[in-house]
Amino acid sequence: MSNQKYDLLLCGGGVIGLSIALQCARKGWSVIVVDSGDMGKGASWAGAGILPAGATLTALDPIEQLRALSHQLHAEWSTILKHETGIDNEYRNSGGIYLARTNAERATLAGNQLWWNEHGIQFECWDGQEIARNISTLKDLATDSPNLRAWHVPADCTLRNPRHLQALTQACLQFGVTLVEKTPIDRFHSERDCILAAISGNQRFSADRYCITNGAWASQLLPELGIDTGILPVRGQMVLFKLDHPPFSQVIHDGHRYLVPREDGHILAGSCEEEVGFDPTTTDTMIQDLKDWAYRLCPMLTPSQVLRSWAGLRPGSFDTYPYLGTLHPFQNGFLASGHFRHGLHWSTATALLMQQWMAGEPTEIDLKPFCIQRGQTLGNQLTNHGTT
Ligand SMILES: Cc1cc2nc3c(=O)[nH]c(=O)nc-3n(C[C@H](O)[C@H](O)[C@H](O)COP(=O)(O)OP(=O)(O)OC[C@H]3O[C@@H](n4cnc5c(N)ncnc54)[C@H](O)[C@@H]3O)c2cc1C
Repeated sequence: MSNQKYDLLLCGGGVIGLSIALQCARKGWSVIVVDSGDMGKGASWAGAGILPAGATLTALDPIEQLRALSHQLHAEWSTILKHETGIDNEYRNSGGIYLARTNAERATLAGNQLWWNEHGIQFECWDGQEIARNISTLKDLATDSPNLRAWHVPADCTLRNPRHLQALTQACLQFGVTLVEKTPIDRFHSERDCILAAISGNQRFSADRYCITNGAWASQLLPELGIDTGILPVRGQMVLFKLDHPPFSQVIHDGHRYLVPREDGHILAGSCEEEVGFDPTTTDTMIQDLKDWAYRLCPMLTPSQVLRSWAGLRPGSFDTYPYLGTLHPFQNGFLASGHFRHGLHWSTATALLMQQWMAGEPTEIDLKPFCIQRGQTLGNQLTNHGTT
């Protein structure tokens, strides 16, 4: 039983919870993060760390605003985290390659050109010869597929998420954040419109504000407060290879799949979207599928270079917008979850916006499009129809 009352309790220590914790601790708040497992070992650890370019011109769309702000903040956060903790999260301006093999894929990427133009994001379109010249790994593919095209987006970035989480955890500790592991929050004690405590077994944690940041598992905890958002776990699987040197430096996207190189020769191959509930295990079929695809794309990869594979549960939302805001009717309850495939990327803006929102300050971008109420009606419908 803890007697201390914190300014903020975060329920869940993934990239979202830890980033909000750090942002608030930097402002002088006393913060506690409570996680059911170990800090930073959920979806955030499992992810690829791809940070696609954000708009350089003023964006009108709320998601584009969130992406642009996050993209800008990642560069700043990475520099500051390295300075403060000595941990290099390997934030790099790696660039991204988007392959198009079929007419449909070429049409989609031609559509992306409009979007990139509209947002001031630079790109180049390469034909087969240019692909082979610029990315030698793709030489065979370019020779075998005469209609292959690739779009190169130089402003795409990456970070190494396990290192980023290490840096966040270390920085949180340095700023006095209390980190409590292996302690699942089961429920909340509330009176009228006020949450009084978060409860884990016989432990009780008190704070002025409570923010739920437990990713895909929010859908298990929110009903405790009478709230339903329709957040659901979407499993992604990943295979890790190790070469002596990275054979390319950019992220290579092929439809929904990608190869992500790390500087020390590790290469990630991902991923997939599977609605299988809270099952975080890999399947032989999907892992073999990912390996076969990776061998075809990058002939340097062989079975002997496979190090390991894993799966993670992304917090999906019905409209792909995250939930950021107040858990009405509770005036001191907040939610930051549902970031789906973009939580690592959008974590920096989420942290800033949630800190501003919880402090009652004007937010850098309008949070109305991300409000929790938009999910309630649909969440209830999905639950009632048993389709979650
Ligand atoms: C294979 C894969 C690839 C991805 N690639 C990318 C990418 O390239 N770029 C990108 O931006 N995003 C990517 N994502 C998405 C990204 O990882 C997620 O959107 C993000 O990690 C969500 O962060 P989170 O903090 O909300 O959730 P999590 O990281 O899952 O953290 C939630 C935490 O809450 C804890 N918890 C659960 N229940 C409780 C409870 N009752 N009490 C206390 N704690 C609890 C869990 O233990 C966990 O630590 C990828 C995801 C996967 C799975």
